[in-house]
Amino acid sequence: MKFYSLNNQNIKVSFKDAVIAGIAPDKGLYFPESITPLPSDFFENIEELSNQEIAFQAIHQFVNEDIPDEALKEIIANTLDFDFPVVDIEESVATLELFHGPTMAFKDVGARFMANCLGNFSQGEKQDVTVLVATSGDTGGAVANGFLGVDGVKVVILYPSGKVSEIQEKQLTTLGQNIEAMEVDGVFDDCQRMVKTAFLDSEITDHKKLTSANSINVARWLPQLFYFLFAYKQSKSKGKEIIFSVPSGNFGNICAGMVAQKLGMPVKHFVASTNVNDVVPKFMKNGIYEPMASIATISNAMDVGDPSNFVRIRHLHQDNLETLQQHLSSYSFTDEATKATMKEVYSKTGYVMDPHGAVGYLGLKEYQKNHSNAYGIFLETAHPVKFLDVVEDTLGLSPEIPPQILKVMDQEKKSHQIASYEELKQYLLKN
Ligand SMILES: *Cc1c(COP(=O)(O)O)cnc(C)c1O
Repeated sequence: MKFYSLNNQNIKVSFKDAVIAGIAPDKGLYFPESITPLPSDFFENIEELSNQEIAFQAIHQFVNEDIPDEALKEIIANTLDFDFPVVDIEESVATLELFHGPTMAFKDVGARFMANCLGNFSQGEKQDVTVLVATSGDTGGAVANGFLGVDGVKVVILYPSGKVSEIQEKQLTTLGQNIEAMEVDGVFDDCQRMVKTAFLDSEITDHKKLTSANSINVARWLPQLFYFLFAYKQSKSKGKEIIFSVPSGNFGNICAGMVAQKLGMPVKHFVASTNVNDVVPKFMKNGIYEPMASIATISNAMDVGDPSNFVRIRHLHQDNLETLQQHLSSYSFTDEATKATMKEVYSKTGYVMDPHGAVGYLGLKEYQKNHSNAYGIFLETAHPVKFLDVVEDTLGLSPEIPPQILKVMDQEKKSHQIASYEELKQYLLKN
């Protein structure tokens, strides 16, 4: 299968080239040239398939020209060695818990899959690939963990000093091996700017193969469709139509769910739930897409003012607002509403939501006001301990720290402190 640029469909590349480049030369996002539905018996018998078999069949058509079947099976086995339970919260409301991976973020799936693909592509290549990524917290840990120990790939992660939580910093700085943490004296935007500058600096790119690891990369974006299928497998026996509410920032996750629907998965509707960064909820009302400067919230992994994957969602719906409205609703919620709902759900049911999951819950309830028959699943995208301060302040309790987090808390932090682009450049040229 080829992938074309959303800016110019005549630019077509293989899966491998799309993964290595990240973005098309004309700055368009890559998109699969076709999406062929899976056979209907796949969905009829899905309960009998293991998660790894489901993932293999679902992703096969996108990657088969570049990754042999046996290698693909191995990549999937390395990616999916943890659970994706659907947990009932109340009548017709359940959550798909995506936080049982090594860094307790849903990004573990995409990061691991991409890391394993790059590792596969770099076999037999003389030159290492360097993944350069800026993080405001959550992405970095998942990327670092996913790429740890992958031969032929080095990872350099920039994070703003003092601006990420202690847990997040430990996840970035304690791994060693092929992972280097750059502690930047500045804010996230400074990290982001340094990364962008490096990609355009030919003194670096002449010597080094640089790539990025954000959700515009097809190898991080597409495998996210797996867990929508896992949720379907667990919920099918309810015999009801399913709606998914996805807490959204860059809209890669929800867009992957829509690809699962194109593959034939029965879904009644999608809800994109956001915090006050409400570019998409506004667009869904009036058809005007107006990017904004991002606003800081307690669900900070969704503080995005110009969601990069939304063009893919528009493209999936022929860029037609009415068609899109039939498949997608989008609502935005304040921090106050998010905290109030965390409290309410905890006192009614005992379930502890993180602030991102709580935004997803709110969106689901909003949609269900007028569509009460459907079975709703909201995605819990992070474990509550990843956002410990908010959870402690809001609920007055301290969730138990899981073993994979405790393990890194004892390790020693190692980072390179830098204050300017020049220091990053010198590092990249020397290493
Ligand atoms: C990245 C992230 C999101 C947003 O996902 P997108 O694919 O960017 O929409 C939501 N919740 C958490 C916890 C995240 O880390």
